Amino acid sequence: MTFKDLGLSEDLLKAVTAMGFEKPSEIQEKSIPDLLGTEKDYVGLAQTGTGKTAAFGLPMIQQIDTDYRAIQGLILCPTRELCIQIAKEMSAYAKYADGVKIVAVYGGASISDQIRAIKGGANIIVGTPGRTIDLIGRKALKFESVSKVVLDEADEMLNMGFKEDINEILESTPAFKRVWLFSATMPREVERIASNYMEDPIKVTVGTKNSSAANIDHKFCLVNGRDKYFALKRFIDHYPGLFGIVFCRTRRDTQEVATKLMNDGYSADALHGDLSQGQRDAVMGKFRKKTIQILVATDVAARGIDVDDITHVFHYDLPDEIESYTHRSGRTARAGKSGISIALIAPAKSGKIKLVEKQIGKKLELVKAPSGQDICGMQLMKLIKNVNEVEVNEKGIAPFVAQIHESLEGYSKEELIERFVSVEFNRFLKAYEKAGDINVDPSKMRSGRDSDDRGSSRRRDSGSETNVNRVFINVGKMDGFENKGQLLGFICNQAGIDGGSVGKIDLFDSFSFMGVDEGVGERLISAMNGKNIEDRDIRVEFSQDKPQGERSGGRRNGGDRRSGGGDRRGGGGDRRGRTSSSNSGGGGRNFRERRRRN
Ligand code: ADP
Ligand code: MG
Repeated sequence: MTFKDLGLSEDLLKAVTAMGFEKPSEIQEKSIPDLLGTEKDYVGLAQTGTGKTAAFGLPMIQQIDTDYRAIQGLILCPTRELCIQIAKEMSAYAKYADGVKIVAVYGGASISDQIRAIKGGANIIVGTPGRTIDLIGRKALKFESVSKVVLDEADEMLNMGFKEDINEILESTPAFKRVWLFSATMPREVERIASNYMEDPIKVTVGTKNSSAANIDHKFCLVNGRDKYFALKRFIDHYPGLFGIVFCRTRRDTQEVATKLMNDGYSADALHGDLSQGQRDAVMGKFRKKTIQILVATDVAARGIDVDDITHVFHYDLPDEIESYTHRSGRTARAGKSGISIALIAPAKSGKIKLVEKQIGKKLELVKAPSGQDICGMQLMKLIKNVNEVEVNEKGIAPFVAQIHESLEGYSKEELIERFVSVEFNRFLKAYEKAGDINVDPSKMRSGRDSDDRGSSRRRDSGSETNVNRVFINVGKMDGFENKGQLLGFICNQAGIDGGSVGKIDLFDSFSFMGVDEGVGERLISAMNGKNIEDRDIRVEFSQDKPQGERSGGRRNGGDRRSGGGDRRGGGGDRRGRTSSSNSGGGGRNFRERRRRN
């Protein structure tokens, strides 16, 4: 079937061709003839990315009478981003349809500009419910001639609490208007709107009801809560061409994950409701242009995201509203492409997998977080590439060359290569050796026994807010950490631990203490000792007598402060001493660089 077969006018066919659309999508094939040829209300259910905008937009434009200077069509959608997107798309369709005027109205932008645009003669309004109500109140919007109302992403609008607003707006439109409702899912609330405001509508479902795009690979990875961030990084490192969105449940998690990724040298940024509209626009702009590789977002903030070519969607947590899963994963595999959706799930939360499977009508496939060895291999190849590409400063090293040659005299070329590679690579091996396999055995699913680690260790700690162990680290404010968060970010970045496993932090001038969950102290000690900061060796120790106290360092009592200033000039002489801490495992970045960015 072609667009021509659907009954569209020449103007619109021309625009569609100019946009590069070759043939109609399934929902377009089904909706366009009905919306053009009948006077009935309409419910169209189709997953995201299937071309719903054109499905209602083309018939709406075609039915505008441009001799008549009045608003004849209204499209309501949940977010500002979506509103702008739809208006842009509609304007492209109307490019050759003489004189059809489309005006977008949404919050966070000058209302007087919008009033002026409406007065300039609008035929179609694309609006968010809030701003639309506002403009009705100011008598700037009058809907007495509106004959078609589209409720786009109706389920999302209800999720976002726009029910009352929608009712109020629909009340202000004439009784003769037709309502076209489009949605990816059909929860009961949407059914209710349909039965309240529609009369015997035509119902069309494309694909299975509530299903998500067929070309999405739905996967989940079973990891403990404290390892989630680590798992995420491994996946990211494992796909060099990745362009993706990480969904978090809360604004706080969103910012935290984004900040950690940025500190770890990833091209990432956060999108959530605590940011100003200007900040959000800037982030979205960068993501659209692909100058950001990874967008970390809340469900609400990511609603309007209509970016093609997204390869991966990560669910840092599953959403509270299972229906949001469809919306999240639908951000990938748009316009006929394929995509991967990966949910990071703690064993205690694995019960939710069933709900998701029910929602999408498909099984989620269990996948493992890439192994440390895979990542080490990648880091090694990166190192070799760096060696190939490094610029040698002959003048700078000249004074040392003779001495270096002398002390390395006894080695063959092969031995030298092995040794130089080992100097760097042993560190990666070490970092990942301790991190080990972070995948949780599937038999632990829903057992409840291995529940959220954080919770269980806190419980063991007789209900106090402090963590099981306390560690000393010989870095503090003098090393440039202005606050505890910066220190935490640094530690997490360097040691590959989750911020959630660290509790109370005391930041002093030259050293600090941290409460850590059980098992995390050892990880910190093995990952951090041997690293350095500004040419100085980092040292981490248990600061109190603890069960792990076979280690002599663990027996120290009240000696925390001993290490303060005196250790600060260690460094050079240590056999593990290195001159730079340029790489941590998994795509790290130099601390100097990191701090400059703050
Ligand atoms: P939905 O609203 O169902 O999520 P959109 O209407 O936003 O989907 O369309 C998704 C993408 O597909 C957009 O970039 C749009 O321009 C493109 N698109 C729509 N219809 C077609 C078509 N028939 N052929 C090719 N691309 C299309
Ligand atoms: Mg849409």
